[in-house]
Amino acid sequence: MALYPRRKSKTVTVGGVVIGGDAPVVVQSMNNTDTRDVEASLRQILLLAEAGCEITRLAIPDLEAADAFAKIRRRSPLPLVADIHFDYQLALAAINAGADKIRINPGNIGGRERVRQVADAARKAGIPIRVGVNSGSLKQSLIDAHGGVNAAAMTASALDSAALLERFDFDQIIISIKASDPALTIEAYRLLAQKTQYPLHLGVTEAGTIREGVIRSAVGIGALLAEGIGDTLRVSLTADPVEEIHAAYAILKSLGLRRRGPELISCPTCGRTAVDLQTIAEAVEAKLKLIRHPIRVAVMGCAVNGPGEARHADIGIAGGKGEFLIFRKGEILRKVPQEQAVKALMDEIEQLCASLG
Ligand code: SF4
Repeated sequence: MALYPRRKSKTVTVGGVVIGGDAPVVVQSMNNTDTRDVEASLRQILLLAEAGCEITRLAIPDLEAADAFAKIRRRSPLPLVADIHFDYQLALAAINAGADKIRINPGNIGGRERVRQVADAARKAGIPIRVGVNSGSLKQSLIDAHGGVNAAAMTASALDSAALLERFDFDQIIISIKASDPALTIEAYRLLAQKTQYPLHLGVTEAGTIREGVIRSAVGIGALLAEGIGDTLRVSLTADPVEEIHAAYAILKSLGLRRRGPELISCPTCGRTAVDLQTIAEAVEAKLKLIRHPIRVAVMGCAVNGPGEARHADIGIAGGKGEFLIFRKGEILRKVPQEQAVKALMDEIEQLCASLG
């Protein structure tokens, strides 16, 4: 694999999940439920966990949300991060409520003394703090000093925040430095990666709807991961957060950094295609979401490249005229009419998964 070696980073632990060092890149999301709605928040956490989410974050806009957070924490299968803006009292309440990590921007939490109180409480609770810098909320003094909203200003903001926590004897720090522009995000993380050993949380902020957002995140996050930068990530999408998890694993799997669930390869179709491949590939993709085994599945339009590609897959189908050949580990198993192709393929996949245990 032609990736750069992983950047050396310190490790921190979030509710038993290690971030940094040699630990696998951790997949995170953020609930979009109202935190005060305990049952709805837990339902979403369970769906996220099922999809492979390893840590999720909840917004704490007020004390009522902090109270609800305590109830959610007691029943959550995932470590939970409390997301705090502006009010240090909410950070203290979230730590008391059992947060496994808090995310703050020390620049907007209200002065050194308040940051000290939050750092003290987090240290006593044994939890890390994520310093979340966002290109949209940089201090004017930093923008002026660095000549605009750029990688240098964002990096300076992150390092200032980390230094402030260090002054209060706190070093269980994770840093994120997100922009909505993938190119700026890449530049900022590159610069930051040279200047600190704290683990880095990757993301392209306000990335967009599923289609645009996945592409922007895959470019920004993918480029950094390929350079060995990044210890945990969140793909931000204007969508069901479960989609963020599918996208995160797709990025990690495409770089060979994590394996989870099946990988589907399908051909783009061309003038040789004599089956309704798009419908079949989409149906297979939907059904594969329920499979946990890391198998490779090929859905090919024809037998020109089809069987060749399908041979590299654990299971594959290659189209003919209104029918498909089914392959398993390079062996042709049988021919089925296209109406039966999805079911026949899924039957084979289930058998294979059962044999894998
Ligand atoms: S696998 Fe066959 S149908 Fe698909 S793009 Fe290649 S040649 Fe065309």
